[in-house]
Amino acid sequence: MSNVLRCDSDCLFCQIIKGEIPSNKIYEDHTCYAFYDINPQAPIHFLVIPKAHISSCGEITKGNSSIVAHCFEVISEVTKKLGITDFRVVSNCGAKAGQSVSHLHFHVLSGRDLTWPPG
Ligand code: AMP
Ligand code: ZN
Repeated sequence: MSNVLRCDSDCLFCQIIKGEIPSNKIYEDHTCYAFYDINPQAPIHFLVIPKAHISSCGEITKGNSSIVAHCFEVISEVTKKLGITDFRVVSNCGAKAGQSVSHLHFHVLSGRDLTWPPG
């Protein structure tokens, strides 16, 4: 798993996982961490991230995809806990797609009607 680093000291989300930067945590286990987005784009907006530093969806491989699958199990579990049935999962990959933090993350948005296509 050469593209899966346990931690990147310059990475904002790695720092959040380590507790060096505060976050509004919803869920944590050995593999994943979930917390509310600091700049919510919907009444409910949280992020699910792997604890391993994978930089984006473009770096998912056979060697690390079980981590990503686990993130989706967590999304299913957390949305059920929050009583959410209608939601959108988004992962921006690359600056032109809107990615601003180079640590794989899944946005979970809910609580309002979500239009399609996205901008
Ligand atoms: P993206 O722009 O798709 O890379 O998503 C990064 C997300 O991280 C944005 O929605 C930001 O609002 C969010 N974000 C940035 N810094 C923090 C932070 N300290 N705590 C929580 N969310 C953050
Ligand atoms: Zn990171």
